[in-house]
Amino acid sequence: MPAICPECDSVLDIDEDEVDLDDELTCPECGSLLAIASLSPLELEAVDEDDLDDEDDEDEDEEEDEDDEDSDEDDDVDEDDD
Ligand SMILES: [Zn+2]
Repeated sequence: MPAICPECDSVLDIDEDEVDLDDELTCPECGSLLAIASLSPLELEAVDEDDLDDEDDEDEDEEEDEDDEDSDEDDDVDEDDD
């Protein structure tokens, strides 16, 4: 079922059987985070990503933290040389 992206006005083909109210999806045209605002008719609303808590965040940020831990481990290995 077609739905209009509120951000870029693209027509997105969404299977209404595969989504529920408040489901989130990303517009393939403009990359905006959208939520199902209504199922009948199928309507989308833009989600302000700044409003999201970290519950829906992907784990992308964690990779940077792991780098810091690695440098600490290097120091410990040197001591074993003694
Ligand atoms: Zn869009």
